[in-house]
Amino acid sequence: MDAEARSRLGARRVPPVRRDSVARVARTRAKRRPAIEAEPLGPEPGPTFAEELERQGLVEATVQRTRAVIAHSNAAAVEHARVNLKVISCLDCRAPKGCCWLVTGAYLHEGVAIAARLIDEGRDTPELRQALGTAAHEMETSDTMSYRRPCVFLGPDDRCTVYEDRPSVCGAHLVTSPAMACSDSTATTVSALVGTLHTETPRQVAEQFRASLSLPPLDIPYRGALPRMVLLCLEAWHRRDHLRSLAGRVRPAVHRYRWAIR
Ligand code: SF4
Ligand code: SF4
Repeated sequence: MDAEARSRLGARRVPPVRRDSVARVARTRAKRRPAIEAEPLGPEPGPTFAEELERQGLVEATVQRTRAVIAHSNAAAVEHARVNLKVISCLDCRAPKGCCWLVTGAYLHEGVAIAARLIDEGRDTPELRQALGTAAHEMETSDTMSYRRPCVFLGPDDRCTVYEDRPSVCGAHLVTSPAMACSDSTATTVSALVGTLHTETPRQVAEQFRASLSLPPLDIPYRGALPRMVLLCLEAWHRRDHLRSLAGRVRPAVHRYRWAIR
């Protein structure tokens, strides 16, 4: 278990699926409303990042696969809890979401799904990007174990505002300790049900995603701090030189995150 997993103590909530989620998924993402960077950027001919994602259907494909990972992992966790006579606190958690105040990692393809949603909903603003940049820097440079900062996507009602597109680590980690312990930074009794699916399967999806976009292979997956991955995707969205932009910027972000959770 790495430092991120230890610090998160296996935390994620499972609120009820919002009724608008099915309609939102079914809706085409082709009509996204860019709040900024409406003009394609970059000197190179060819499709923008958004156009290439659209051409290959990569956003919907990876969204569905991440949801399948979470559903599969949760089913395994529920069965594990049943067999071991445990109760998963996340299933009806009404406590403040301490699990959303921790260092959170995401694969690049998971950042793409959230970026697509933010653009779709007109939430890609300079203020949001600034908040993402600040949170990313804090996550990449702070002591993981003492990091306490609300996720940029945590709403004022303590609900995830990107719930249907949340990263696999958010959806796949569940706890059997009392929910209130998750907000207690001194608690030593948080018990995580750490699944295995959220590590292996997303890595396979990440590799397929990387290869689909012809991004250069790294010796580790394209995975960094959640806010950084989303920010890099937003900044690449309308760029024709997205390959070069992403390849050049994701690699150091991946290594910064790895260093932070070492
Ligand atoms: S029980 Fe803890 S980890 Fe689960 S949703 Fe509630 S605060 Fe998050
Ligand atoms: S993406 Fe959602 S579930 Fe994950 S940490 Fe942020 S608010 Fe919590």
